[in-house]
Amino acid sequence: MREEDCIFCKIANGGIPSETIYEDDMFRVIMDLGPASKGHALILPKQHYRDICDLDEEMAAKVLPLAAKIGAAMKKALGCSGFNVVQNNGKEAGQTVFHFHVHLIPRYEEGPAMVSWMPGKASPEELAQTGAAIRSAL
Ligand code: 5GP
Ligand code: ZN
Repeated sequence: MREEDCIFCKIANGGIPSETIYEDDMFRVIMDLGPASKGHALILPKQHYRDICDLDEEMAAKVLPLAAKIGAAMKKALGCSGFNVVQNNGKEAGQTVFHFHVHLIPRYEEGPAMVSWMPGKASPEELAQTGAAIRSAL
């Protein structure tokens, strides 16, 4: 399925030009227009999925191997020492385009530094209570 007003549906299916680094029948991988670091790329499925909870099994099974393939190519081509695989689900999680996508962000020794979370504290009781709540919803 594709959505009329979805910019990533249009980009993934070639309706809007993009700097494409990989394409097959299911995916297009493009350079992010606002890169967090040199080489920041986005994996876009050609079909429309809102977020990770919307994926079918075939798509879910293929996306991580593709992330590894592109990340390995980034290491070879760009000399980054590592890369982050980032995937946002929902507005509060930072998702701004509601067509499932995976960010591949090369990381270099010289930076740029990126904001991470500050580890919090939780008691064993809190962990147990929260864990039980999630388990009960599986
Ligand atoms: P999100 O915040 O939804 O996880 O990520 C959306 C990403 O898409 C952002 O990093 C943003 O820079 C990128 N982006 C938004 N619109 C376009 C576009 O038209 N072309 C490209 N190449 N990237 C885009
Ligand atoms: Zn879409």
